[in-house]
Amino acid sequence: MIIDGFNRVHNYLRISLTDNCNLRCFYCMPEEDYEFTPPTGLMQPDEIESIAKIFIAQGVNKIRLTGGEPLVRKDVANIIMRLSKLPVQLTITTNGTRLHEFADLLENAGIHSLNISLDTLNKEKFSLMTKRDQFERVYGNIQLMILRGFHVKINMVVIKNLNHDEIIDFVRWTRNEPVHVRFIEFMPFTGNRWESHKVFTWQQILEMISSEFDILPLEKEKHETAKKYIIPGHRGTFSVISTMSAPFCSDCNRMRLTANGKMKNCLFSQSETDLLTPFRNKEDIIPLIYQSILDKKKALGGQFTTDLENIHTENIINRSMITIGG
Ligand code: SAM
Ligand code: SF4
Repeated sequence: MIIDGFNRVHNYLRISLTDNCNLRCFYCMPEEDYEFTPPTGLMQPDEIESIAKIFIAQGVNKIRLTGGEPLVRKDVANIIMRLSKLPVQLTITTNGTRLHEFADLLENAGIHSLNISLDTLNKEKFSLMTKRDQFERVYGNIQLMILRGFHVKINMVVIKNLNHDEIIDFVRWTRNEPVHVRFIEFMPFTGNRWESHKVFTWQQILEMISSEFDILPLEKEKHETAKKYIIPGHRGTFSVISTMSAPFCSDCNRMRLTANGKMKNCLFSQSETDLLTPFRNKEDIIPLIYQSILDKKKALGGQFTTDLENIHTENIINRSMITIGG
């Protein structure tokens, strides 16, 4: 078992398949010219499979594929089929633009639950936030995946004065659809124009929803990052991921592998450990994994606290979100 200095067992690995994407969400991809990692710099399908097996042998029982956009990678089908044969729960986070092409594959791979990102129900705002005119495609694919029986979770990053006025509309969506909406507090990453006044907090989200609906908290599952709620009579549910105002670090079980094979022990870790180069050199990477986890900080990568006013993004040492894998 991979255990850190605070007795947290790490059994969940998120693997980024690429730092490339077909959308340009401003809060994720830096605005300045950005060079995607060339295919040779990425972990190859056999390498992903072998490294995943090493993690599984150390106790990992859940793997999430992410990116960038995992479904834009040309050999993604090969990677998914390889991982689907391993004794692990496999899931994926996607922007939804290509799900119509991959629904069969995901089903055949035994993937039942999908996280799909959608920050607005307004077509124009979607284009503004992602710089691409893909709202209908994404919304249609969400409906398609619900119809096909997948458990669909919607990731909505809430940004004050941009889309926070749509929170109620997203909650209304849960009335007749078995959809689970996750409101995510806006987080700071390199080059993403984060400012404290743009964060719409968990408390503010709940206050807004409570003004319209009666809400009931649901029991928290172990290691769950989201605080879950239901409105009596609704088919769906909603939750809040309060990373900024009330982080869930004390219960963290997550490790991350970037598309170029660097291990990060926290979304906000300053440092990273290269696993791919030693793996290619046929070295044993297990001690590197354990050392990385032993170096894990108690909360938020040791980089900031919930005192939002005193977060200075210029002092945060990290990658941009698109190069980590959310
Ligand atoms: N492309 C896929 C997608 O959009 O779902 C997977 C990768 S994306 C980096 C994973 C998740 O991180 C998305 O739900 C996205 O909205 C979220 N995310 C990206 N930047 C964020 C930020 N600054 N604050 C909060 N969530 C963020
Ligand atoms: Fe692409 Fe997802 Fe980042 Fe948006 S959030 S730019 S879809 S990787």
